[in-house]
Amino acid sequence: MNEPEQRASPITPTVDFSAEGIQHGFLRLPYSRDDSAWGSVMIPITVVKNGEGPTALLTGGNHGDEYEGPIALFDLARTLKAEDVCGRVIIVPAMNYPAFVAGTRTSPIDKGNLNRSFPGKPDGTVTQKIADYFQRALLPLADIVLDFHSGGKTLDFLPFCAAHILSDKAQEQRSFELVQAFSAPYSMKMLEIDAVGMYDTAAEDMGKVFITTELGGGGTATAKSAGIAKRGVANVLRRAGILKGEADVAPTQWLDMPGGDCFAFAEEGGLIEPLVDMGGTVVKGQVVARIYPIGRTGAPPSKVHAKMDGILCARHFPGLVKAGDCVAVFAMTV
Ligand SMILES: [Zn+2]
Repeated sequence: MNEPEQRASPITPTVDFSAEGIQHGFLRLPYSRDDSAWGSVMIPITVVKNGEGPTALLTGGNHGDEYEGPIALFDLARTLKAEDVCGRVIIVPAMNYPAFVAGTRTSPIDKGNLNRSFPGKPDGTVTQKIADYFQRALLPLADIVLDFHSGGKTLDFLPFCAAHILSDKAQEQRSFELVQAFSAPYSMKMLEIDAVGMYDTAAEDMGKVFITTELGGGGTATAKSAGIAKRGVANVLRRAGILKGEADVAPTQWLDMPGGDCFAFAEEGGLIEPLVDMGGTVVKGQVVARIYPIGRTGAPPSKVHAKMDGILCARHFPGLVKAGDCVAVFAMTV
């Protein structure tokens, strides 16, 4: 028997990806529900094309409570001029649009975490349908992919641009060149806790030059973190030869996450007292936080230890933690 042909995506773009000039439109995803029987999710998209050249796919809001990417990309979409572009720029400021509108990491419709939903399903949940459209329609158009993240409501990060160690060393080198060009205060050789289902992995498996960021967190942005995002995306487009003009280069500190010892997880819940602040230096074995049981006074706190020498590059943001929360991440300066 022949394999059944894969179903077409239910998403209809209102833009023409091959047309010259600037188009602002939507990825329209039918979503039938109580308040709109024949309703749709309308994901904003901008396409800017000028002649032949590489294509950049720029995304934010993969998680709905991370704001530097959407700020930089809504700004870029309204200010980018076609005559300054050589090739094509596809801008989706809020990939998981229902999550972005709700201000939550995952979708309020199906609880889908878009960055754990790849390759997606054309006949799946709303989040799986969005993943499938990026997997089969948008990623194949791209030469370079920049996906913005931050810590969201529950994590905070030192501001860094990142790429992954890859088996294809040429692909890896091109990715790290774009990380360097982004010019965030920190640049990371990034290790994932669990890479299955990630947009990153989908893009890299297709051979795309893929970079990402973590630019802050706590479910908000600052003037500084938004500025880093805006400068970074312009620098990446210039380095890729897609945007005219000189790059605004700034010094960056390279960081490396050498293995699982980077992560510290809470083994008990409670009230966390940080003993090291972001960017602070730690040595292996150092107590970096205490977790007080909150049920009674007089009980000793549990201790969180650093398992390596390095600096604190991410931390749990809320003041209360649960067992299993990632409470601290360390990286080596290189
Ligand atoms: Zn994220």
